[in-house]
Amino acid sequence: MYSQPLDLEEALLVLKNSNPKVIAGGTDVYPSLKSGFCPSEFMDVSRICGFKEISQDEQDVRLGAAATWSDIVNADLPAAFDALKQAARKVGGIQIQNAGTIAGNICNASPAADGVPPLLALDAKVELCSQDTGTRVLPLNEFITGVRQTVLKPDELVSAVLIPPSPISMGSAFEKLGSRRYLVISITMTAANVLLGQDGRIEDVRIAVGSCSAVSQRLYALEEDLKGKTPQDVVVKAEHLAPLSPIDDVRGSGTYRLAAVQEQIQRAVMGASRR
Ligand SMILES: Cc1cc2nc3c(=O)[nH]c(=O)nc-3n(C[C@H](O)[C@H](O)[C@H](O)COP(=O)(O)OP(=O)(O)OC[C@H]3O[C@@H](n4cnc5c(N)ncnc54)[C@H](O)[C@@H]3O)c2cc1C
Repeated sequence: MYSQPLDLEEALLVLKNSNPKVIAGGTDVYPSLKSGFCPSEFMDVSRICGFKEISQDEQDVRLGAAATWSDIVNADLPAAFDALKQAARKVGGIQIQNAGTIAGNICNASPAADGVPPLLALDAKVELCSQDTGTRVLPLNEFITGVRQTVLKPDELVSAVLIPPSPISMGSAFEKLGSRRYLVISITMTAANVLLGQDGRIEDVRIAVGSCSAVSQRLYALEEDLKGKTPQDVVVKAEHLAPLSPIDDVRGSGTYRLAAVQEQIQRAVMGASRR
């Protein structure tokens, strides 16, 4: 069975009563069916009123759960979102970007989800709705807990990703390393948001790295060390990468990943400082 509710109340009721498999773009769900996973009921959340909207109030930029990567690329967003837009342009090809959604990316919770590092660098929060317990908001780093694991409860939907305001002059950049330029799973990726002072030194910086641990990580110790430095003086030491635990796999060894990330961080900080 396949349902496509148009409002949130109705969707939460269906979810509670018949526990369907939630889909948005289906670009993670449908390929996973190949490995024998086939639910008897699907609920498509992509038409729920407000789910595709990208809007801004005094508090947050609100990215509706079913905003696609193309919606994000085309939205008028502050420069702090440039890394997210650059990541959006690297998610699969145009067809995938037209269908795949931001909530689908974070709920699928792949260590290689390209949306997660830019969202962590934006201090993103996740808005969750349930018929019984109402709405709760969690920081993204508390929402994803492991490889393909989140704290989403069976009766909950992600309704939006919320981004608190960043300084207007904060720049941002995303670096993705794959075995080719496009249509590729990330070997490593890094997002950086940087605010420079009048003297050209780093006043504030947020750095997040993906594909190097079960869950993408912010590098808080590195962020502290970079404050007061110029972007050209960025030196990444081994201890800064301590939160990472990259695996060896067909795409690269852990050692290669750590070496790549050191270079990516420097490039991302330079890119984010270039505005
Ligand atoms: C050819 C191809 C290339 C790809 N390339 C990339 C890439 O380069 N980088 C990358 O990061 N990803 C890539 N992906 C993966 C995928 O496209 C993205 O993760 C996309 O953002 C998933 O969004 P979706 O809407 O299609 O998710 P879906 O497949 O619809 O759903 C994914 C998961 O999220 C859940 N879900 C969706 N919406 C909600 C909601 N509102 N509330 C609760 N649960 C929800 C679903 O139940 C499911 O568990 C690729 C996929 C394909 C097929």
